[in-house]
Amino acid sequence: MKELDCLFLHPTTHIKSPEGVDHLTNVVMPVGTIALADLLDREGYGVRIFHTGVEQRRDRAFSVESLFKKYDASVVGIDLHWYVHAYDAIRIANIVKKLSNAFVVLGGFTATFFAEEILSRFNSVDGVICGDAEIPLLELLAHRSSGGLDRVPNLLYRDGESLKRSKGKYIADASDLDKLSYSNLSLLENSDEYSKVSISQCGDVGPFALGSELKTQGWFSMGRGCSMDCPYCGGGRNAYQILTGRDAPIFHSKERVVETLTRFEEMKISSTYIHFDPYPTDRRYYRELFAMIRDERVDIGSQFGLWALSDRDFLMDFRRTFNPLYSTISLFPRSGSEHIRKLNTSFYYDNEELLRWLSDAKHETIPTELYFTSGLSWETERDFEETIQLSKKIIEEYPMVVTLGCYPIELEPCCPRFLSPKDWGVTLKFRKFLDYYDTFKGYANGLPVSSRLVYETDHLSESQIIELSQRFNKIISSTYYDKWQKLMLGEKIFELRQEEKSSVS
Ligand code: SF4
Repeated sequence: MKELDCLFLHPTTHIKSPEGVDHLTNVVMPVGTIALADLLDREGYGVRIFHTGVEQRRDRAFSVESLFKKYDASVVGIDLHWYVHAYDAIRIANIVKKLSNAFVVLGGFTATFFAEEILSRFNSVDGVICGDAEIPLLELLAHRSSGGLDRVPNLLYRDGESLKRSKGKYIADASDLDKLSYSNLSLLENSDEYSKVSISQCGDVGPFALGSELKTQGWFSMGRGCSMDCPYCGGGRNAYQILTGRDAPIFHSKERVVETLTRFEEMKISSTYIHFDPYPTDRRYYRELFAMIRDERVDIGSQFGLWALSDRDFLMDFRRTFNPLYSTISLFPRSGSEHIRKLNTSFYYDNEELLRWLSDAKHETIPTELYFTSGLSWETERDFEETIQLSKKIIEEYPMVVTLGCYPIELEPCCPRFLSPKDWGVTLKFRKFLDYYDTFKGYANGLPVSSRLVYETDHLSESQIIELSQRFNKIISSTYYDKWQKLMLGEKIFELRQEEKSSVS
């Protein structure tokens, strides 16, 4: 039996198909997990991370129980950042409590938001670190055996029959961020497999179900916070303030970022995910960072998420900086209707500006991913038609758009629509942690669930919202298919085939 000070366990979403097959999805870990483990490791603590989904993909007979035949851990940390892990995080906590004497602590935004309810309902959870976790986790390891939990900042814990909130508050600042390292993948069991599997969140249910042999993804955080408050987002300015106490975004130093990317390159990681753009009107940080990456000749790709449009110079810089084989830019216009986009996003641009930006990206030959949604506040079926029409035009005119997707917008705990549904024309179907837990328990066991989206809007029912996204994806796939047929067969033959098809039908 190997003794550990802290064992991190990452949960996964399980979905049982009608045939009884257990599919795994939402496989990406919160980026901070590696950094937290590395921090403890550098302080001399014995630490290990297991991604339970990756373990199960390698060996379908894997069980969390089997870990407790090998390891005796003083503290077990389970991340519960995204609500999609509500059930699996508690399932794992129950197993840990049954098989060990470890102190079971949860962390992440979902755990923080529902901390009191989780501790009241589930005896298998001993504490929740609310908000930033670096110093609290170090202090927990230092004070756990002496019982001095009150000295652990940001901790809500069970004290006999009641719950107690520790007095200290910890909010990481930029200098704290710079002490973190995201590249010590040796702490994660089967990290090579994780780098392949985590090229997308989809896991078993995506196009890269077996992971990628050609691309590996490195994950790290550029910073924390946001300057905006999109109504559907649980990671906006107000949510950060409630959950962590942070008022304004903070960035990692550019020097640390370059160091991390260099390390990733040495580890043969081909691409890194950058999704942190909290000041879209002032991207000096990135322009300077890109110049430093070029100066250091770091050879790596980037899957970069822009939170609003950029100018042409930014795109030019991006193209010159990152390995084009492994690089894409993602943009999230959300709706094809300018009116609906204006009502639902923090950084508005009209369709003309969007198409101009796409022309720039085309000129720079940057593979681009665009994401739309259904279920936005005040959106009607007619508004959604505009999303479809705009997307068809984009397929015809912008061949570098490699992905055009649409999905029903989710309702994240602590987002403005969750906190004030009436103000956003939304009706919630549930609000408790237990509801999320039951929903994902239903998925894991192949049982019907009461609501998939948790909400409906004043104009669209839940099933309409889901159907609109499905319709979009069907139409867009067939538009792409027709376009490639035209290219392969030539315009004339394609038209003859289309005529034949319509005369038969
Ligand atoms: S969706 Fe909006 S609020 Fe959320 S992180 Fe992006 S820009 Fe910020």
